[in-house]
Amino acid sequence: MKKMSGAEVRQSFLDFFASKNHTIVPSASLVPQDDPTLLFTNAGMNQFKDVFLGLGTRSYTRAADTQKVMRVSGKHNDLDDVGRDGTHHTFFEMLGNWSFGDYYKKEAISWAWELLTQVWELPKERLWATVFKDELGELEPDEEAAGFWRSETAIDPDHVLYFGRKDNFWEMADTGPCGPCSEIHYDRGPEACECQGEPGHVCRVNGDCGRFIELWNLVFIQYNKYADGSLDPLPAKHVDTGAGFERLVSVLQSVDSNYKTDVFTPIMQRVQEMMGHTDAEVRENLVAYRVIADHGRAVTFLIGDGVLPGNEGRNYVLRMILRRGARFGRKLGFTEPFLAEVAKVVIETMGTQFPELESRRQFILTTITQEEERFLRTLDLGLSQLEEVLAELKAADEQTVPGEEVFRLYDTFGLPLEITRDVADERDLRVDEAGYQAALEEQRQRARQADKFESRDEESLKRYTRILKDLQERGLLGEDGVAQDPYITTELETTVTAILCDGEPVESAREGDQVEVVLAETCFYVESGGQVSDTGYVAAYPPGEDEPQWEIKVRDMAQPVPGLIVHAGVVKRGRPKVGDDVWAVVDFGRRMDIARNHTATHLLHSELRYVLGEHVQQAGSLVSPDRLRFDFTHPAMLTEDELDLVTRSVNDAILVNYPVEVTEEKYHQAISEGVIALFGEKYGDVVRVLRIGWPSEPFSRELCGGTHVDETGEIGLFHIVSEEGVGAGVRRIEAVTGRAAVDLVERQLGVLRRTAAYLSVPADEVDRKALGLLDELQSARKEITHLQEQLSRHEFEAMLEQVQSVTGVSLLSARVTAPNMDMLREMTDWFRDRLGSGVVILGTVLGERPALVAAVTPDLVERGVDAAKLVRGMARVVGGGGGGRPTLAQAGGRDPSRLDDALRQAPRMLEEMIAR
Ligand SMILES: [Zn+2]
Ligand SMILES: [Zn+2]
Repeated sequence: MKKMSGAEVRQSFLDFFASKNHTIVPSASLVPQDDPTLLFTNAGMNQFKDVFLGLGTRSYTRAADTQKVMRVSGKHNDLDDVGRDGTHHTFFEMLGNWSFGDYYKKEAISWAWELLTQVWELPKERLWATVFKDELGELEPDEEAAGFWRSETAIDPDHVLYFGRKDNFWEMADTGPCGPCSEIHYDRGPEACECQGEPGHVCRVNGDCGRFIELWNLVFIQYNKYADGSLDPLPAKHVDTGAGFERLVSVLQSVDSNYKTDVFTPIMQRVQEMMGHTDAEVRENLVAYRVIADHGRAVTFLIGDGVLPGNEGRNYVLRMILRRGARFGRKLGFTEPFLAEVAKVVIETMGTQFPELESRRQFILTTITQEEERFLRTLDLGLSQLEEVLAELKAADEQTVPGEEVFRLYDTFGLPLEITRDVADERDLRVDEAGYQAALEEQRQRARQADKFESRDEESLKRYTRILKDLQERGLLGEDGVAQDPYITTELETTVTAILCDGEPVESAREGDQVEVVLAETCFYVESGGQVSDTGYVAAYPPGEDEPQWEIKVRDMAQPVPGLIVHAGVVKRGRPKVGDDVWAVVDFGRRMDIARNHTATHLLHSELRYVLGEHVQQAGSLVSPDRLRFDFTHPAMLTEDELDLVTRSVNDAILVNYPVEVTEEKYHQAISEGVIALFGEKYGDVVRVLRIGWPSEPFSRELCGGTHVDETGEIGLFHIVSEEGVGAGVRRIEAVTGRAAVDLVERQLGVLRRTAAYLSVPADEVDRKALGLLDELQSARKEITHLQEQLSRHEFEAMLEQVQSVTGVSLLSARVTAPNMDMLREMTDWFRDRLGSGVVILGTVLGERPALVAAVTPDLVERGVDAAKLVRGMARVVGGGGGGRPTLAQAGGRDPSRLDDALRQAPRMLEEMIAR
């Protein structure tokens, strides 16, 4: 066998098929781009599904690649196996080669054999092949494949075995493309059997021990399956193969676990280094090491493909895997975030093959650490809560953790179900997952109800569907419903096909009615892709007249069910009737404002990627007439310099006056040419592609269904209004263009002009002048404080004449003027300095409220005088409270008019204290 590193195995696979005239294609993203039924890309063929379905084509008929794959659903088993053995993973690579109506079984089989035995030099006697034979006898056995194994390869004829539907027949779904497959298995030798000595055990292909393992599956797609179960031969037959990369490497490197290959060892070694573990300690904690290595890889690749931690769908899976990895780290002894260190190794070792890891390196590392920190902050609290719950359950002899508890732990402490399940498992308890899902669903329902946009109830949806069907049956609308073209024109002559009042169809409406109007076709844009709906009017004119017979002002647009577009608004004059010929006219000025903001959004996206890096992905967008809002992935706040650079670059692109071009293209062709599609957007087969720049080298190429300016110069001016964070690793920029930007600039220049006039300086000296004034103000304030203090001292000196003697104790109880409490306290110091022994109580009004300070010299404290008691008693008079030490106390109140009354209480209170 050839000694090879993992990277060499991957490269030799690709090189081999390149030499057989295959186009080497890049791995598709882990986030399926055009398949909403799929959470993650889970097979090499995902990106070619449309070809197999006969919906799409490629410029090539032979392809090979290594595909990033995630297989995890959060279900119990698939996660549970990860780490317990050497072969299960959440993330892995799938090597594959494809023929789209090109070569077939003969080449697929002989090339697989050639690669395995001649390039990789696997011993022939250890290879086995399986082919299809229907156990029900309904389908033809695949003698064709079996024949090629015997004629085209040097395999031992006894090593070609027949298996039935479960192992050797492949179907894409219940209907559609399907066909027999042929698997290649490898015999790892009798020592690899973990069932040795078990009575009745025989090691065999597709058996129940670890001796024979599947290396490669060759699928021959030759039928189309119908709903009734019948099969038709396909006109074009395809080949779809898949070989698990990590397992292949383990065979070629002669190790019994994927984690012992050089695909994983650098990661495991880095963790060992950080922990300072001996090899024996690593073996003791092998499960944790494996989980961290597996989850660390998954997390790195997921974030590299633009997935962010969150609470739904794939975002949740990422959060869960990351937190699970972090918790296993905690079990090993990590007390600080460490997963970014794991990710660094993954990027180092795999970044050459998967360049998106390199280009998003900083983003990946920061996102991981931020999420890990967020989790670790509450982890201890969450785990101790969980311990309490588990202890209570144990005490009550319960076996199951209630779903609501599990949900509460997630909702409050961020402890994912999977972690709670791990910990419960360790204590031999089960988790009520159905109850958890129910609690989760309940919360989602509540959130949905709070969201008014999703509140169109089922009843009204049914009503709209009925109207659409009715219009279509009467031939009033096209096959696909209302024809909509907002791109060519903003006014259009058409017919009213339906009018709705309160959701019910009516024949005509009256002035003042709130209506929804359906037209045969429309040039109004309906909110989509972040761009808001158009407004305008629909009006009917008598022949030859300029004054409309009736007019509806359109305030909003909606598509309540696909195909039905309604113009919502109010009847301004006349009696609109179904069947009337009308003009539909979009508010052109507003539409242009929107177009400027939309084109500017694409410029902004492009410049952000240029200035900040390729990790910037659109995460949300709003395009309205008055501003644009753009959310994007980036781990840190933008610096002043970065914002400046982005603003300048966008304005430069505006000044060059680049052409803006929109074309309709086949989705896959556009994507393969590098056009940017958005995560989570579903696109049809034909898409609109927006290109900005000179036609030979456009610098912005994105899929977009919105409306745009023709040349960037029309945008006029672009100005960023704000930049802020809106969630984990997501920033938001708001900006204005065109008229709104000019308004903003004019307004702010006006403020500047007026300020300059007030200050009697030229406009560009305003800032320096303002700083100078602030300095002056500050020293003036200091001077005032100083003068106030002197004034208070004078006043105080005069007041000393009011000192009275209460049973031999000097008492000063007086109202003074003071700017703050500090001054009051300072005055009591002056009193003590002057009199040596005595009691002083000073009152003042600060703002609207009375304030009191009392001070008692220590010699009198010994005689039972207490400053705190004194102020408390007096505070009651002014409607407040206070406290402090026996030597110094203060109080506040609400009623300043009673302050003098309060101060008059002093002699009597002092007398009572001393008397006691
Ligand atoms: Zn065995
Ligand atoms: Zn757009």
